[in-house]
Amino acid sequence: MTKVIIRRHVCIIKRARQRDLLLMDADSDCESPGTPNRTIQILRGLRGKRLLRALLHEGIHAVDWNISERKVDLLAQNLARLLLATGWHQ
Ligand SMILES: [Zn+2]
Repeated sequence: MTKVIIRRHVCIIKRARQRDLLLMDADSDCESPGTPNRTIQILRGLRGKRLLRALLHEGIHAVDWNISERKVDLLAQNLARLLLATGWHQ
C-alpha cells in the first residue's frame, strides 16, 4: 500500500485481486472524490506498459474526476507511450 497526495488529498494506492475491483474486466479503479480514504486499486501482477497505463489512468481520474472515460483512456495511452519511448521502466 502506498499513500500519495493528489490535489491535497491522501490517495491510497493498493494492489487488488480481480474480484475486488469494481469492474471485473478492469485492470484498476479509482474511488470518487470525497470518499474517505479514497483508494486507487491496481490489479495484482500487472507489470510494464499495462501497469503504467493503469496507474496513469487512475491518476488522471484522481486529479480530475470530470474528464470523460474516453479522454482519460486516451491521455493514459499517450502518456504511457511518451514515458516508455523516453526510457521509463519499472
Ligand atoms: Zn476510468
